[in-house]
Amino acid sequence: MKALTFQGEGDVKVMDVPKPSIAGSRDVLVRVTLGAVCGSDLHILHGHTPMNPGAVLGHEFVGVVDDVGPEVARFKPGDRVVSSFFTACGHCALCRKGWFNQCVDKGTFGHGEYFGGLGGGQAEYVVVPNADSTMEPIPDGMDDEQAIFVGDILSTGFFGAERAEIRPGDVVAVVGAGPVGLLATMSAQLFGPARTFVIDMVDSRLEIAQELGGIPINAKQTHPVEAIERATGGIGADSSIECVGLLSAVDTAIHAVRGGGTISMVGVPSAVGGEFPYMRMWLKSLTFRAGWCNVQKYMRPLLDLIAAGRLHPEKIISHRMKLDDAEEAYRIFDAREATKIVLSP
Ligand SMILES: [Zn+2]
Ligand SMILES: [Zn+2]
Repeated sequence: MKALTFQGEGDVKVMDVPKPSIAGSRDVLVRVTLGAVCGSDLHILHGHTPMNPGAVLGHEFVGVVDDVGPEVARFKPGDRVVSSFFTACGHCALCRKGWFNQCVDKGTFGHGEYFGGLGGGQAEYVVVPNADSTMEPIPDGMDDEQAIFVGDILSTGFFGAERAEIRPGDVVAVVGAGPVGLLATMSAQLFGPARTFVIDMVDSRLEIAQELGGIPINAKQTHPVEAIERATGGIGADSSIECVGLLSAVDTAIHAVRGGGTISMVGVPSAVGGEFPYMRMWLKSLTFRAGWCNVQKYMRPLLDLIAAGRLHPEKIISHRMKLDDAEEAYRIFDAREATKIVLSP
């Protein structure tokens, strides 16, 4: 089958690789109908995330069930499905507490041997282990281009917005207008903020943020914290959602909120540690939340919100390309010439 493989730092290639087949009794083989390119894929491309050469890339995918193991209860061949970007066993102590991303037996798709040795979704087929607690059926009538987002970045954006504790009438600051920041902006609207400021340095992304209900602030042209203070009578935002992961972005997210406010960080950290303003956090009684998304908890309600027409994540798709052109897709996404790219096999 055709698949995009990692070859080494800066080098990915579409190749012919052996078609995978189910091995475990809880496995499902999915024929991929749509994959997507994610910022996390670029971390692999640049060597910031370790990956073994030859491994298949891609952790955002939807498809049709092709084959099921004997213990799979929720799916049968022919079902349309969306997968979380990671597997969870569904029965360990932390899965039972609802924290599927802390599962003792998890693996991440498209991340090679270091993250569970799973296959990837930028391919024609992928095996999904522990399928009953990793996938959701796609509602009838919903496009692949809508459903694919609940497996990672829409869930992540919503997770960020929910943990920002937004209340009706609030002022929210979203730091970063990449795909996750845009979907955090979209998700934040479900909680009824009066104003959602979105900070970035790329005008084309800020224009989309504006279409999604955001008020753009270009950090190249104006100091974002000062701009938010000016707009709020010197008080600051009620909460911020950090969607970049750079220490400077985390710093902006902390300084943009008022006393008693909440900072919700979902950006993948670019550094292991950094300075943390303990005194400011304490003096201003701030709440700081950080973490990667517990996707399995959010897929079902988000599919229901999309089906009801209350979320339109497909609006951020800028490029529809073929898997054969995946190398070019990585190049233009890396150059920030694309907002979100989907790939069809
Ligand atoms: Zn992703
Ligand atoms: Zn588990």
